[in-house]
Amino acid sequence: MITLALSKGRIFDETLPMLAAAGIEVTEDPEKSRKLILGTNQPDVRVVLVRPSDVPTYVQWGGADIGVTGLDTMIEHGNAGLYLPLDLKIAGCRMSVAARADFDYAHAVRQGSRLKIATKFVGIARDFFAIKGVHVDLIKLYGSMELAPLTGLADAIVDIVSTGNTLRANNLVEVEHIMEISARLVVNQAALKLKREPIRRIIDAFASAVATKP
Ligand code: AMP
Repeated sequence: MITLALSKGRIFDETLPMLAAAGIEVTEDPEKSRKLILGTNQPDVRVVLVRPSDVPTYVQWGGADIGVTGLDTMIEHGNAGLYLPLDLKIAGCRMSVAARADFDYAHAVRQGSRLKIATKFVGIARDFFAIKGVHVDLIKLYGSMELAPLTGLADAIVDIVSTGNTLRANNLVEVEHIMEISARLVVNQAALKLKREPIRRIIDAFASAVATKP
């Protein structure tokens, strides 16, 4: 049995055509059912639905053999026991620093001020500001990061930006670009050894689907 960990929404929707390229069709619609294990047209392949940030944990501990999740999640989790063979070039977005339009971020950085940064991505933020030599207090949040600069909780946030609509709606502006993010295929290293042939087949099919993507 090959178990593939996905999360509902964009990752699930954009992974479906890649699965199709591997001859795998998910037989249930996750939006229409509360099931967490979905069957496929292949009796030995199943999909488990987990939160994006749990995908690396499932794959690392063998609850799933393969998964798809964002590079941001992988960096925060760390790569122990995991093999990341492929950038799937889906669910593209960027990791940025954003602040209120009336906060002079560049000036604060130049002055060497200690900045309060709210984020879910504590590891990425810590490394980014350490490399820049900027002193920061990191405030861990689990969501609605945009609220932090508006309420005085933080000077700026580190968050994912796609269209920029969420920032604009909350009068925030991007002040630094940290990295481009896209979804990665993540594979359990032990499973790759034990189930080499079927897993290789899936990786190769995904790789050709990425290569031929318009
Ligand atoms: P947007 O308003 O399009 O810039 O989207 C920003 C919000 O959507 C952020 O708060 C993110 O949490 C979320 N988001 C957008 N794209 C992604 C993605 N590829 N992966 C994870 N979260 C995303």
